[in-house]
Amino acid sequence: MTKIEHKLYIDDVIRRVETARLSVSGHLIVKIVAVSKYSTSQDISDLYSIGQRGFGENKVQDLKSKALELDELPLEWHFIGNLQKNKINNLLEIDPTLFQALDSLELAEELQKKLVAKDMTLDCLMQINSAKEESKHGFMPEVALSSYESIIGNCPNINIRGVMSIGAHSEDTELIKKSFITTYEIYKQIPNATICSMGMSGDFELAIECGSNMIRLGSIMFPD
Ligand SMILES: *Cc1c(COP(=O)(O)O)cnc(C)c1O
Repeated sequence: MTKIEHKLYIDDVIRRVETARLSVSGHLIVKIVAVSKYSTSQDISDLYSIGQRGFGENKVQDLKSKALELDELPLEWHFIGNLQKNKINNLLEIDPTLFQALDSLELAEELQKKLVAKDMTLDCLMQINSAKEESKHGFMPEVALSSYESIIGNCPNINIRGVMSIGAHSEDTELIKKSFITTYEIYKQIPNATICSMGMSGDFELAIECGSNMIRLGSIMFPD
């Protein structure tokens, strides 16, 4: 794709986001995080040059190398993957804008210790396993709120900004929708939460209709 073709292509994605957003409310703001896990630093830089600021990675090592390579650009980095305890310090070195996949109390407690040691705070989203899938990480919906209380009580260096969820792995739109609604209902009950991160390339319009205000778009933002 030439640069102009790329710009037109991305404009089209943004138009689809706009249409979904406006179908909910003209006041709703939906942020796009471009998931760059299968893309190179050059691809990220190209997307930056046509206006994209927020990028997401799901491996600490990749986040680190791309963030360092692109250090000159004022990018916002989101970590959206499963965080292993032995990688916490590596993640904190990058000081990401948002850690979207806080998925257990044990991780929260470990993270809290490392944050205290570094005298840092971190904005996080609680990942919700809203379709209760074995293959997915996250808090089960029925324990999400009590887990939130526990994090607030025990982990003062963690700022919970909201929730993140991956839609049900299904061809059935109703099931996917149900998983988004479950996530949105938890979001609504978390005091002061401002971010409901749900929706990927294949289901972002449905996610926005269900209340998402942050979508994580990978393949659709980085066409071949
Ligand atoms: C890969 C990934 C995405 C983006 O997926 P696409 O279908 O390529 O848009 C979003 N969220 C998470 C957590 C991911 O791992």
